[in-house]
This record gives sequence, C-alpha cells and structure tokens, in this order.
Amino acid sequence: MDTRLREFKPIQIQKYVPELDLLNNPLLHEQEKEFLAAFYDFLEKELDKDLRTLEELNYLVEEPTQDIKRDIVIKIMKKLAEKGYYSTILFPEKYEVGRIMRNVLIAFALCGGRWSETSERYIAGNWSIEMGRLAGGTLYCNPVSYKANEYQWEKFLVPVSRDGDVGASAMTEFNAGSDIARMELNLQTQGDKVIAKGKKVFITNGMICKYLILYGRINKGPIGAIIVDTENQQLQNFKASRVRTYGMTDAFVSRLIFDKVEIPKENMLEGSGMDIMFHQLTEERLVISAEALGDAMKKLLYSHTYALQRKQFEKKLHQYQVIRFPISKNIRELNLLIAALINYAREMDKHPELGSSKLMAQQSMGLKVTASELAFEAAVHCFRTMGGRGYIRQ
Ligand SMILES: Cc1cc2nc3c(=O)[nH]c(=O)nc-3n(C[C@H](O)[C@H](O)[C@H](O)COP(=O)(O)OP(=O)(O)OC[C@H]3O[C@@H](n4cnc5c(N)ncnc54)[C@H](O)[C@@H]3O)c2cc1C
Repeated sequence: MDTRLREFKPIQIQKYVPELDLLNNPLLHEQEKEFLAAFYDFLEKELDKDLRTLEELNYLVEEPTQDIKRDIVIKIMKKLAEKGYYSTILFPEKYEVGRIMRNVLIAFALCGGRWSETSERYIAGNWSIEMGRLAGGTLYCNPVSYKANEYQWEKFLVPVSRDGDVGASAMTEFNAGSDIARMELNLQTQGDKVIAKGKKVFITNGMICKYLILYGRINKGPIGAIIVDTENQQLQNFKASRVRTYGMTDAFVSRLIFDKVEIPKENMLEGSGMDIMFHQLTEERLVISAEALGDAMKKLLYSHTYALQRKQFEKKLHQYQVIRFPISKNIRELNLLIAALINYAREMDKHPELGSSKLMAQQSMGLKVTASELAFEAAVHCFRTMGGRGYIRQ
C-alpha cells in the first residue's frame, strides 16, 4: 500500500538558485568544474531512475522492499565503478583533478543532487547511497591499497575498486565506538588460518558486501586487519543482519557475528591495525563533510522552494521573515564551509604527507562536526517550513 496522501501535489523545485549550485562556485577551478559537471550528467542519465525507485519504495507499507532495494544498491555501486566514481584510488594519471578532491565532489553531488538545465527539473541526491559508496570505495579500498601485497591487491582490491563489488569496513563494536582501542574481536592465528571470534555493529554494507576489512586483536594482543571474503554472504559461521536507522533508508547498516570464522592467513594485512585505520581518517572526514554539505544544500533548496510556493494568510511563506531569515543564514554558512572543504581537499591532494598530520586530522574533524550541525539545522528548518508535509516525508 502506498501511504502518500493523493491530495498533496508533489513539491516541484521550479527555480534555479545560483547560491546553491556548486558548479557556480567561483572557488572551483575549470577542471574541477568539468569533473563535477560530468558527474552531474551521469547522476541524471544513469542513476536518477534507480534513486527515484528507491524513494518510491519508502512509501510502501505491508510489502517487503528490502531485497528489491539491495539489488538496486548493488547495481548502483557497479555503475559508479564503471565510471571511476566508486573508489578514487585507481588510475590517478587519468585525471587532472586530485583523488581527494574527486572524492569530495562526488560525495557532495551524490547527496545533494542538482537542478538539470536540460530537463528543467531537480535531480535528487541520496545520502544513504553515498554512505554505501564511502564504505566500499573509501573505507574498504583505501586501507587495502595502503598495505596490500601483490596477491591481495589483485584478489581483493581490484574487484571492489575497479569492478564495483560491494566492500565494507568493520571497526565498531558494542563497546568500542569512539574509543576504538577497546576493540575485543579476536583474530586467533592457527597454522595457515586465522579464526575470527566476536561481534561488530553499525557496519555499512555489512549484509550486502562481498569483501570486508575486519579489525581485531591478533591473539588477544595488538590490533591488526584482515580481509574477509564473505563468499557472497555464505561464509560459514558468519552472520550479518540489518540494523534499522533513522533516515539512511537505503544504506544496509548491519550487525555482524563472527562465530569462529576461518580466514586464510594470507588475507592478513601487514602492519599495525591502528595505523591502517587512522591512515585514511582525514580523507574520510572530508568526504563526510562533503556529504553533510550536499545534504544541507538539498534541504535548503526544498525549504526555499516550498516557501516560494506555499501561501498562508494570503501571503507566500517566503514573505515572512521568520521563514526566510534562517534559510538565508544557512545558505551563507553553507558557502563558507564549502570554501574550507575545497581548500582542505586541494591541499591534501597537493601534499599527501598532510594525511598523517594530527592538526589536519583535527581540523577536518572540526569541519565534519560543523558541516553535520549545518545539515541538522537545515533539516530542522525544512521540517518547520513544510509543516505537516515535512513530518510525513511527502
Ligand atoms: C549510519 C552509520 C553508519 C556507520 N558505518 C560504520 C561502518 O561502516 N564501519 C564501522 O566500523 N562503523 C560504522 N559506524 C559506527 C560509527 O563509527 C560509530 O557510531 C562511532 O564511532 C561512534 O561510536 P558509538 O556509536 O559507540 O558512540 P559512543 O562512542 O558511545 O559516543 C557517544 C557520544 O559521546 C561522544 N563522545 C565519545 N567519547 C567522547 C569524549 N572522549 N569526549 C567527548 N565526547 C565523547 C561521541 O562523540 C558521541 O556523541 C556507523 C554508524 C552509523 C550511525
């Protein structure tokens, strides 16, 4: 059953807003704009139909939608990979735009969507799809590419980064969240095998992934990392199930159980697990900042549009300062944070050694926190501006 109220007309974004168009941002270089424009084109031509189907499925109740969604999500990751948009680590020589800059531009655009001049309509983004892209394309691929030997590179990295198989990264446990050093999952070495025992939680893509990077304690001692081939989720003694989240309706956030799972020892990555985890942290923080800013942009566009269309007490909502001022304030803040994001990403590409700078890691965390707060604030204004319709997600 479709739960939408037919009496409400769909909200049409009818107007181009220059301040909310990243392609219009004077700070972006020509090549960066070209890369972004090509991605927006891809979003419209290749992903729009799938993203709309995912949205439509949200309105159905009493009908199973999870398997349909899973197949769509897996298909989307393949499409992204075909164009080099899933992971940005391979073939750097093919691009004029740096790896981290490409990663943040894709994240912003995939979350925020864009007004299409050719079809004169808004092509919506989807944050949960971007979460899946980040988990597989960055959180899995980056640490594997950092430490993989030749065998691991070919067998476990190329199928994900180039061909778009779904990857995941399993760090978080019930007790080890922010405090990752409290990790308990044990990786017991036994001849040419490693036996994994323990649980993970909040793992994006966990129940749909082909491969995952698993962090745990080697023989209850130091933290290490190993690649797990889930054998298309059929791996013996491995169980993945869905964790329901607010929002993120298309990200398969999961709980994983490893009940003495046997993994070949050759899948173990060389070096300290803490180093492998933290090595990618600054990039991940910048990508999440870009996601939050893209999402804020999308919410602002919706609030702005609705305020221009909806009439109450004989005036359009946008004529009331209490509606218009918070939207303008958020737009100003959004562009300031985008300026910081562009600069951080460019510098990180120019000076990869910044990846191990503690100060850079702190600053990117600051950006991530502020960008996430803006995304929340923009959502609050969106709910308020839309009144009842905000609450029924229509
Ligand atoms: C949608 C989603 C997807 C995720 N995907 C993945 C994934 O793919 N892989 C993965 O490994 N994990 C994933 N996570 C888990 C995520 O990394 C953790 O939720 C995060 O690390 C926080 O841990 P926690 O939830 O245990 O919170 P806690 O550590 O319990 O923290 C609770 C609150 O306390 C604050 N806090 C904690 N310590 C301090 C301190 N010292 N000072 C001040 N404040 C503090 C935190 O900021 C937070 O606000 C995902 C989570 C979500 C929600």
